[in-house]
Amino acid sequence: MENRKTPLQKSIVLPLSEIKIRYMAAFFSEGEAVRKRNILLVIAHPDDESMFFSPTILYLTSQGNNVHILCMSTGNADGKGDTRKEELYQACASLKVGPEQVKILDHPDLQDGFNHIWSQSLLAEIIKKEIASQAIDLLITFDCYGVSGHQNHRDVHLGIQMLLLETPQRSIEAWELVSVSMLRKYSGPVDIWLSLLCTSCYPKQQMCCLINGHPRKSFLAMAQHESQWIWFRKLFVSFSSYTYVNVLKKIDV
Ligand SMILES: [Zn+2]
Repeated sequence: MENRKTPLQKSIVLPLSEIKIRYMAAFFSEGEAVRKRNILLVIAHPDDESMFFSPTILYLTSQGNNVHILCMSTGNADGKGDTRKEELYQACASLKVGPEQVKILDHPDLQDGFNHIWSQSLLAEIIKKEIASQAIDLLITFDCYGVSGHQNHRDVHLGIQMLLLETPQRSIEAWELVSVSMLRKYSGPVDIWLSLLCTSCYPKQQMCCLINGHPRKSFLAMAQHESQWIWFRKLFVSFSSYTYVNVLKKIDV
């Protein structure tokens, strides 16, 4: 079931296998391609991981890395926080991230909502504690636009930026998911080629392209978010380039 691909996916994804390896290996610092990392993906809401970061999660878990997910809210904007929390655990399980590696916060000052501004220093403090307790050595999060422009996504990025500025030895490495234009966002697997082209202009230690060899797994993960799994999100996951490819850029502060 999982290996079934549409003819379009077959024609675009499969011939990329050699390029994939070259670009994926570049995700890690020089000489560290084989070292297993303790990685923390920081997201704002349940479903961010499946809608936007699934190529990254699938790649990292397939390489035996220890992936943790920190979700800053329960996504309670519509009063479905408790349900969405459970759905996130199920989605993570389908992406091979166990419940013990998923933490979902329900902090009064970090509630889901476009108009809720989250404190950067509070975010930095929480993430710092998580780094210490899980011995994290690599962070992944949204970039300053946050894929959709959602305020909570952008605040998570700013919180990590603050944390990096406060970390004097730069002992922690952080990467951001590069937001793409509207046209590219809905170009599905076609964006793999554009992403490869864009990343080729940058040094491999600064930007990398992670291609999803199993887009159906992203679809199945998103389907675990039953309360959100309505027609337009099904369309989004089918046509979104974030289902097929993630471009990550190292955050320099
Ligand atoms: Zn979100």
